[in-house]
Amino acid sequence: MSLQDRREHMERCTRCSQCKWVPIPASKQFSSICPSIEYGSFHAYSGGGKNITAYAMLENKASYSGDLVRSVYACTMCGACDTMCKFLQGENVDLLSNLYELRARIASDGQAPKVYDDLRKQLREEGTFLGKRHERSRWAQGLSIKDITQRPADVFLHVGCNNAYDASRWRELTFIVSLLDKAGIDFGIAFDAEVNSGGVAFDLGFQEDARQLAEQTLALFRASKARTIVTCSADSYATFRNIYPRLGLSIEADILHVTQFVSSLVKEGRLKIDARSSETLTYHDACRLGRLSEPFEPWNGSRIKVLEQLSVQDPPQRVRFGVGGHYEVPRDLLAQIRGAEIVEMERNREYSYCCGAGGAASKAYPEFAQMAAASRLDEAVAAGATTLVTASSTCTSHLATVAEQRNMPLKVKGLFELLADLTGEMSS
Ligand code: SF4
Ligand code: SF4
Repeated sequence: MSLQDRREHMERCTRCSQCKWVPIPASKQFSSICPSIEYGSFHAYSGGGKNITAYAMLENKASYSGDLVRSVYACTMCGACDTMCKFLQGENVDLLSNLYELRARIASDGQAPKVYDDLRKQLREEGTFLGKRHERSRWAQGLSIKDITQRPADVFLHVGCNNAYDASRWRELTFIVSLLDKAGIDFGIAFDAEVNSGGVAFDLGFQEDARQLAEQTLALFRASKARTIVTCSADSYATFRNIYPRLGLSIEADILHVTQFVSSLVKEGRLKIDARSSETLTYHDACRLGRLSEPFEPWNGSRIKVLEQLSVQDPPQRVRFGVGGHYEVPRDLLAQIRGAEIVEMERNREYSYCCGAGGAASKAYPEFAQMAAASRLDEAVAAGATTLVTASSTCTSHLATVAEQRNMPLKVKGLFELLADLTGEMSS
């Protein structure tokens, strides 16, 4: 795939600007869907604006400037513009695919923000951009967990970079391990052999770096012979389902997010949740667990003319409306907490507003990432929540930091962190 391959899709943009807004907003304050244009306040920052930039580059009518690069990279690749566009246009534009190729062109021209040079170097040398390779499994010290690179297990517990390197997430990981032990699951982790799954490199336009990381990850999965991969990382879950198929790669085992796996154990009666709370909770749909985890299916059809004028797809392509993401299972787990009131933010499920942490945008434009988080936190407060809960450690870390900086009357918790708080344990 290249920018040239996206030409027809770019040309189908009608300049309608639906990519900036929730289709049927409940209020003006939370009607925007795109953190990038809220930050830049200029059309070029929107999904449609980026599409025009991509087209101009294809036609050799744009030259690089700091403004152009900022308008493309002050963006979390959250996919909201793509989902909103499809609400009106179906697969006509397939905006997210255009954005991936726009970034790939900028990166291959050596024009991506310089801060990402270090990130790339670290990804290559350490297998992560968050620390050193030998520090990856510090969280597991003192725990008795099988090393799946040495001994086979039914379940490969994939940890993810943010979980592994952010010490504030380790309690959540430890709790997940205790749940699997209680349910009698035969599982293991890859300790320091695990590497970043490649999603962030792909988002930034470094597609070959992404491929190398993906191939390392797949080699680990294959060598383990595990029939089920359970990932604790929303970012990796989206990478496995949305990015790997774009790289022509597939996973031969079942892939589940940890919320799905734990929920199935609860349904089977192998675990029970015994939690009570008087808090008002709201659930933040992480983009990468939601709309970006809808599986990508390559389409190799063509367009034909019918009635001598209408151009249609043959065979029809399934439209990724974002509804195939992972929305209800985390809510079902929250609903098990007795006494808690659960309220929804205005922008939820496939219309969720990105918290600003995705795609490593905060590395280059931290003020952009903070602005997005502030909007999301304000929305949680407006919904009446006293605690915002999410199932992505990247979102949890970022939102918690910004809530603290703003001294807000709102707690931010990871879903398993909350359950650990309320139950002390989840008993079998
Ligand atoms: S990208 Fe889609 S939603 Fe945005 S202006 Fe173009 S057609 Fe409209
Ligand atoms: S991916 Fe998200 S932040 Fe980027 S342009 Fe689209 S909606 Fe805006």
